[in-house]
Formats: sequence, structure tokens, C-alpha cells
Amino acid sequence: MPVAKSSSKKTARKPNSAGLAPDRIAAILAALDEAYPRAECALTHRSPWELLVATILSAQCTDVRVNLVTPELFRRFPTPQKMAKATLPQLETLIRTTGFFRNKAKSIQGAARKIVADFNGQVPQTLAELITIPGAARKTANVVLGVCFNKAEGIVVDTHVLRIARRLGLAKGETPQRVEQELMQIIAQRRWIDFSHQIIHHGRQICLARKPKCNRCNLEQLCTSKDKTFQS
Ligand code: SF4
Repeated sequence: MPVAKSSSKKTARKPNSAGLAPDRIAAILAALDEAYPRAECALTHRSPWELLVATILSAQCTDVRVNLVTPELFRRFPTPQKMAKATLPQLETLIRTTGFFRNKAKSIQGAARKIVADFNGQVPQTLAELITIPGAARKTANVVLGVCFNKAEGIVVDTHVLRIARRLGLAKGETPQRVEQELMQIIAQRRWIDFSHQIIHHGRQICLARKPKCNRCNLEQLCTSKDKTFQS
């Protein structure tokens, strides 16, 4: 795929506080728009509650696997009120194939009870409230806020965003928290939601953890990662 045109004909703007050229960041965002114009969350859900649970289950698990498990889980326990009354063995049996199922069962049971007890049965719409829910750290909170409420309080940093932000030189941190803070400083807030979805798709399709498909990457000319497998 061709590299998206950057605004290189314009007068080069000064590096931002992170030392990154705004034109280069703009070129990366344009290339992501070109490659993934309709990138969306791949977790099947019908409500903020279902997305919250699905995102908790997606830790260390593929979205495809989660999507196989959630229909029966939500058929049996469709609301926070109903899931709050589920026993751990009942939940463990239903989510076993997503891995770490004992901890995840505790998290989704705890999340249901917290939402019933403290949020009147409704998934809250702020990051500060969401991260009080068992199993929901910043990544999960950002997913729910962005996808369900179109709110960008932060940037979703999962394993793909962590890896690719570093490969593209957009961040240097080694933790999701640090990388999220770095990205929030250099990317306009209006792009935070789409950026995460696009990078996650890129990580699944092209910029794989092992052997990235750099010869098929439309960011290749913007990337100087030592992990590159192809140089044009
Ligand atoms: S060039 Fe390779 S390493 Fe760089 S972003 Fe593209 S796929 Fe990833």
C-alpha cells in the first residue's frame, strides 16, 4: 500500500515537547485513516454492560474467543442485577475457555455487584468511576467510554498499542500507563478513540508482535523500528 501523503510541503513545524515532529505524527495518523477508515471495537456487545464484561474477559484472550463465550453468558445473566446473583462456579463454567477464568469470574461478579450497589445498575460514564469497578483498570474504562459513550478521557493502551507506539517512536515508556500519558501529549484528543482502534487493527493484521509484515505496511516509510522485516 502506498504511504499516505504527509503535509511535507507545508512549512515544517517545530517538534512538540516530546521531541516529535507534528508533521510526522500527522502523516502517521493519515496513514492509519487510509488503511483503517472504519476501525471499530471487535468485541460483540449490545450495551455498555456487555462491553464492560467482554473487555474484562478479553485480558490475555482473543476477541474471537470472547465473542464465542459471551452470547451464552449474557443469555443466562443478561443484566448486572442478574449477574450479581450468579455464583462463582456458574460464571467460571461459562467463561472457562477465556483463560484466567477464576479471577475473571470474581471480577465480573464483583463488577455486577458494584454497579448494582453504587451506580443504580447502570455502567458509569466517567473514568474516575469506572476504575472503581472490579476488573476495570484504565484500559477497560477507556474502551467502554470511547465505544459506548464517545468519550475520550484517555487512550486505550493494550498490548498492540504498547508495542506499535514504541515501534513507531511515538512513545518510549515500557508500561501501558506511561505510554498512554506519552500518546495523550502528542495526539489531539479528538483522535484518541479512532487511533486506538486503528492501531489495534494494525497490530492484528500487519504489525504482528513476531515478524511484522512490513512489506505490506503503509507506515513503513515512517517507521524506523529495529523490528522491521522490510526496508523500502
Ligand atoms: S514498518 Fe513494520 S514494524 Fe513498522 S509499523 Fe509497519 S509493520 Fe510495524
